[in-house]
Amino acid sequence: MSNRQPIVAGNWKMNGSQADSAKLLAGIKQGQGSMSKARIVVCPPFILVPLAAKELTGTVVAWGGQNLDPHKSGAYTGEVSGAMLKDFGCSYVIVGHSERRSLYGETDQAVAEKFKAAQEAGLVPILCVGELLAEREAGQTESVVARQLDAVVNLAGIAALANSVIAYEPVWAIGTGKTATPQQAQDVHKFIRTRVAAKDAKVADGLRILYGGSMKAANAKELIAQPDIDGGLIGGASLVADEFLAICRAAD
Ligand code: PEP
Repeated sequence: MSNRQPIVAGNWKMNGSQADSAKLLAGIKQGQGSMSKARIVVCPPFILVPLAAKELTGTVVAWGGQNLDPHKSGAYTGEVSGAMLKDFGCSYVIVGHSERRSLYGETDQAVAEKFKAAQEAGLVPILCVGELLAEREAGQTESVVARQLDAVVNLAGIAALANSVIAYEPVWAIGTGKTATPQQAQDVHKFIRTRVAAKDAKVADGLRILYGGSMKAANAKELIAQPDIDGGLIGGASLVADEFLAICRAAD
């Protein structure tokens, strides 16, 4: 890794009551003081964002949403806008998570619109890209990731990536306990950086590319040690304060 600031972001998905989220936040709050370099981010479900804001204000830990609606406001029942997230102190928002793509039918174009809306609201999008197992087995990993990335670049422009984070998440590694090997992950991270560099070398050099997919304390160090891996997007392991903090320390 160059001198890019590492990021470890926790994606809580649809987990947590008020009581156990308060406990988790308290644990993270207690451990965050020992970090000197890594950026720590937690992304709770929308309804727990105010709790995160309350508990994390005044700490080095930032918080964000897991999704947003691309519209600014209006008759979009059940949705939350970027401006609303910003109003609750969010700095980041995840866009294009594979669960959003597969379970809620988000197309590359819809993800690109969310990416753009996030930046317009003053949020840093964490753009998730990654291939399905069948796509990897068919040798399509690079073409899938390129297609997902290009949709965003075509809509928002290459310069927009300077104010974003990318998460490479092979879908077959998410929530499965099956992690990409450091080399498999590095290869795709390098592919992403090279593709961005072909359009803008400076943006590529500064771009934080996180790995996601069953990252935990036991494998974080090896993954983050790869030259193009700048941290992690963590699902399951972000729900346990000690485990999440151990990953943050590995990145720090
Ligand atoms: C994720 O959902 O972004 C993720 C990486 O999940 P897990 O760490 O549980 O594989």
